[in-house]
Amino acid sequence: MKINLANIKKAQKLLNKRECVAIPTETVYGLAANAYSDTACKKIYKLKRRPKNNPLIVHYLNNQILKNDCNFNNDFIKLYKKFCPGPITFILDLKKNSRISKIVTNKKNTLAVRFPKHPITRNLLKNINFPLAAPSANVSSKISAVSSDDVRDDFGKKVKYVLEGGKSSIGLESTIIDIREKPKILRLGGLEISVIEKILNKKITINNNPQKISSPGQFKLHYSPGIPIRLNVKKINKKEAYLSIKKLKESKPNFYFLSKNGNLKEAAKNLYSTLRKIKKDKYKSIAVSKIPNKGLGKTINDRLKRASKF
Ligand code: AMP
Ligand code: MG
Repeated sequence: MKINLANIKKAQKLLNKRECVAIPTETVYGLAANAYSDTACKKIYKLKRRPKNNPLIVHYLNNQILKNDCNFNNDFIKLYKKFCPGPITFILDLKKNSRISKIVTNKKNTLAVRFPKHPITRNLLKNINFPLAAPSANVSSKISAVSSDDVRDDFGKKVKYVLEGGKSSIGLESTIIDIREKPKILRLGGLEISVIEKILNKKITINNNPQKISSPGQFKLHYSPGIPIRLNVKKINKKEAYLSIKKLKESKPNFYFLSKNGNLKEAAKNLYSTLRKIKKDKYKSIAVSKIPNKGLGKTINDRLKRASKF
């Protein structure tokens, strides 16, 4: 995709004025604001109708700039070198003199940080002198946005500007890892756990304990298209939309697939847009066939499971 400098300038101007702007990333679109400004960050919560106790991920151009706000350790540096910029978010300790707004962290002494890969957002980050707090650009608890149209469908004119960046290439949120002590995955995401384990050369635990939620992306109802979803379905009901991982031999108007040949990366990329399409096509419920529970299939199943708690 071509980089349109005038568009980036427009986003930059609004962000400098403490406004919210939707930005493209390789995972999903984000609703961004100056992470050093309380005024700017409050606008994100208001627009998204996001509970105040759900902290935001802050997006940086690189780890040199992050040094102002967070402490690093060896595991962080290993993963940063291998996967950043990319779809991984780190929970790190905040420095005492960090300028990050307390609205972002909900007064925690930790910060979720990510280095987005999308060239347009990287260019934007180069041209501003603050990091960007940016949760997914969707109304709280609903499906994330993977295109500028998705953002406009959710927010209409309430978002002052949507920076165009095409369809998100990964299409699932980042993998969140708490890297401060023994590494723990807090949210499955666009980067597979097995590749993270390989780099760290240690087993990583997944924190799925609902009693001890520290990342609301783990909440049960999340990523919801707003209609009921049934999982692992073998027999569909007449009026349901039927969603399968690959294209079936038989084709019917209510049949949808995530990838022609069942490729998990492609399926991940198409998951949210297909759920949105089914909703737009006015189906009242969705039946999903079994999705292989390996690699990115684990993240797809995680999202579908949470979306099904309607
Ligand atoms: P999203 O709103 O889709 O960008 O998701 C951001 C996720 O990061 C949410 O699940 C947050 O709860 C999580 N998060 C942000 N900051 C922290 C933090 N300091 N500790 C743990 N999780 C966090
Ligand atoms: Mg979200």
